[in-house]
Amino acid sequence: MSIKTKLLALLIAPIIVLSAIHILELQRVISGLAENLAAHKEQAMAAVARNLEGEVVALSRITINLAHPKEIVHAVQAADNEVLYDWSHSFTNRGATVLFADAQGMVLSRAPAEFRFGDDISRFAWFARTLRDGAFVGMAEMDGAPHLVSARCVRKYDDLPVGVVAAAVPVTPQWLSQFTDDRQVLRVEAAGRSIQNAPTPPGNADFFPLDVAAAGFADASAFSVAFLPDPQYQQLVALKHAAFVTGSLTALATIAALVLLLASQLRPYAAVVASLREYARNAASLETVRERLTRLTPARRNELHDIIDALVRMIDAVRTQLDRVHAYAGQLETLAATDALTGLHNRMSISAILQAEKRDFDAHGIPLTVLMLDVDSFKAINDTRGHQTGDAALMIVARALRSASRKQDSVGRWGGEEFLLIAPGLDVAAAPALAERLRAAVAAEDYPDGLRVTASIGMTQSRPGDTVDTLIGRADTALYQAKAAGRNTVRAM
Ligand code: GH3
Ligand code: MG
Ligand code: MG
Repeated sequence: MSIKTKLLALLIAPIIVLSAIHILELQRVISGLAENLAAHKEQAMAAVARNLEGEVVALSRITINLAHPKEIVHAVQAADNEVLYDWSHSFTNRGATVLFADAQGMVLSRAPAEFRFGDDISRFAWFARTLRDGAFVGMAEMDGAPHLVSARCVRKYDDLPVGVVAAAVPVTPQWLSQFTDDRQVLRVEAAGRSIQNAPTPPGNADFFPLDVAAAGFADASAFSVAFLPDPQYQQLVALKHAAFVTGSLTALATIAALVLLLASQLRPYAAVVASLREYARNAASLETVRERLTRLTPARRNELHDIIDALVRMIDAVRTQLDRVHAYAGQLETLAATDALTGLHNRMSISAILQAEKRDFDAHGIPLTVLMLDVDSFKAINDTRGHQTGDAALMIVARALRSASRKQDSVGRWGGEEFLLIAPGLDVAAAPALAERLRAAVAAEDYPDGLRVTASIGMTQSRPGDTVDTLIGRADTALYQAKAAGRNTVRAM
């Protein structure tokens, strides 16, 4: 995980946790409320059922009261509309219709419609059932509209049915409303129709059946009730959604803002780090890193400015030290390869050159001439003129060898007053001329105190199968022969 990701996680986590806590807390309240509402529903349904039972009982009481008085029995038998109307019309408050009919179904009186009688109701099922069972309480059609009807036989001698008394209220939305509060929808299935006091609540068509337990009520299960959504509950649910949306948006906005902020703040640092890592992977040189860092230096003097400044100065210091070390190393290399007295290659260096030229001969057949040169009777010079004069003479000999040899030749001090000259590309035919030139050059130099100095030279060429030792050995032998021949001369082998 990068630092950026960690930082983001660190800042976003509290937002998410806090949002989650809020949402969970809201959910807890919502669940509590839902439980309350469910409990309230039971109570509310029981209350509505009780109200309906009260209505059924009240309606039944009208017919009970009107079925028994002797005067009413006589009036029914006598079809006395006037008496019957007088009895019934005081029961018509609250919208009830009260009617009397004879046993054949002819209406004898109807209240409150005083002059509507004489019509036939025998075709109605409730009428037949009343005659058959003695009483009927239930939903039935009357005057082309659904009604709650309570009907009862009017009996002569408390036994013989002579007619029927019925009390009915029309089932209308307004009538249903008196049993509910404004958050309930009451529905009744009556006379093949469905009537309710308010439209079915949107998104919630759950109607719970009511148990209207009134004695003899034929349509106890005709009623059902639905509940309008609780505004408080709805508000809480909306609040929960809002909390979720707000939390999510806050988290997203924070992430976006942080990403932008981090990108703008950390980008220059990241670029510096990237340059340094490239150097760590050997993918960029110090110079490249220095150049990149310089380019990344902000215009304002701030933390990054100082960091880059320090890094650039460190690189410069390292660079300076490295340059010094390189210079020293070069000097040391030269010193290690140079003879201190003559400035020629020393033995180690001239040996290395000989090795290399020998390899070129072996690999490519490039001819190679080796000259071994020894100052004649040098011991005597030292003995008679002293070591300092001897040293001076050696320096002059060295200078002479250098100037008489070719550019591509290498001259080294082999040891004491012996010198080795390596002439690559010089074959047997051309070698004697060079050897002679060297011999003559040494002899022709001016030496201190009018001293005369000569040298003898042994000469040989590289042959197939030679080693460096056999090559040097032959040059040495040739030198021996030159000494034996009287010195200041050249011999080849
Ligand atoms: P030859 O002609 O046979 O070579 O005689 P030579 O006297 O040169 O032979 P030898 O090898 O016996 O003598 C070499 C002398 O060179 C011995 C030594 O004192 C002297 N010598 C060697 N190195 C140096 C040096 O660096 N400086 C001086 N002044 N003398 C040196
Ligand atoms: Mg010698
Ligand atoms: Mg000598």
